[in-house]
Amino acid sequence: MIKVEKLNKSFGNLHVLKDVDMSVKESDVVCLIGASGSGKSTLLRCLNFLEIKDNGKIIIEGDEVNKESHDLNDIRTKVGMVFQHFYLFPHKTVIENVMEAPVHVKKISKKQAREEALILLKKVGLADKENVYPSKLSGGQKQRVAIARALAMKPDIMLFDEPTSALDPELVGEVLSTMKELAEEGMTMVVVTHEMGFAREVADWVVYMHDGKIVEVGHPEDIFQNPKETRTKEFLDSVL
Ligand code: ATP
Ligand code: MG
Repeated sequence: MIKVEKLNKSFGNLHVLKDVDMSVKESDVVCLIGASGSGKSTLLRCLNFLEIKDNGKIIIEGDEVNKESHDLNDIRTKVGMVFQHFYLFPHKTVIENVMEAPVHVKKISKKQAREEALILLKKVGLADKENVYPSKLSGGQKQRVAIARALAMKPDIMLFDEPTSALDPELVGEVLSTMKELAEEGMTMVVVTHEMGFAREVADWVVYMHDGKIVEVGHPEDIFQNPKETRTKEFLDSVL
């Protein structure tokens, strides 16, 4: 359902993504791992058109998508994204954060947006926080609001860029279990993470990136127990 072919991206002279090929089928959970600077965030940002690729193809639901022929807002409604640092609107309440894009981008009525937002807040365990401002929430709660906010656009695929890296250790679990529930409901997900336990347990595929290239793709049990590539093994030895 989302496919990348020979994707390249440079920042000035820095060639960050090098002929990246990747394919994510419906309901797949793909965990993207790799060292700092290997290009993981850049790849996700290209999938969401927060960065514009230099060349290569991005195919979403069978459609080759590019900024010339598509409305980027349309694409971003299909591809939800959750970031390390949440980026909630600080001057809006929890429920207003979740309603914002459906009302202003999708133009659905406030009444309907509110009803849907409440269902999502229940789903992430925060129905009692609907009228609270983000500054009153823990990091884990903020991240669950950010997940609800992304889901409010009814995306076909959700991208997560290190969603738990900014959290205190005791708050990581609540966000990972929300993500796990989403995965179990069949959401298609690409997750950049250092949480190898999550990757092992939830991922259908683990993709290892090194220096802008995808070096190895495999099922978690194969990648973690029996990596084919030396670089994958070295990376895993350094993080496990
Ligand atoms: P990390 O694990 O630290 O988040 P990453 O794998 O997500 O790393 P990227 O953020 O994709 O790595 O960065 C890949 C390379 O591209 C890095 O060398 C980074 O400095 C560079 N880079 C990323 N964004 C930009 C930008 N907007 N302008 C210039 N260079 C950038
Ligand atoms: Mg990154």
